[in-house]
Amino acid sequence: MYPSYYLVAKDQGEKDAVKSFHYALEAEKIHSDLFAQAKEAVDSGNDYDLKYVSVCEVCGHTVKDGTPDQCPICGASKDQFKEFRH
Ligand SMILES: [Zn+2]
Repeated sequence: MYPSYYLVAKDQGEKDAVKSFHYALEAEKIHSDLFAQAKEAVDSGNDYDLKYVSVCEVCGHTVKDGTPDQCPICGASKDQFKEFRH
């Protein structure tokens, strides 16, 4: 749904909405990959090998077992990531 939201916002010149939908779309691609990896582990009877995730508080970009110096999607700095451990 984000690609169509993005196009509508772009057509209407809504710059903040364009940025927001772009971030959401890019972050969801990563979320989808992480979900697929976790499902694959569960389907093969294994625990998902994960120590923690870091989430960018600006765009939602999620990183497994590490925090980048700068968010590759929105450019936020490392201190704008929040770590979640289990
Ligand atoms: Zn970000």
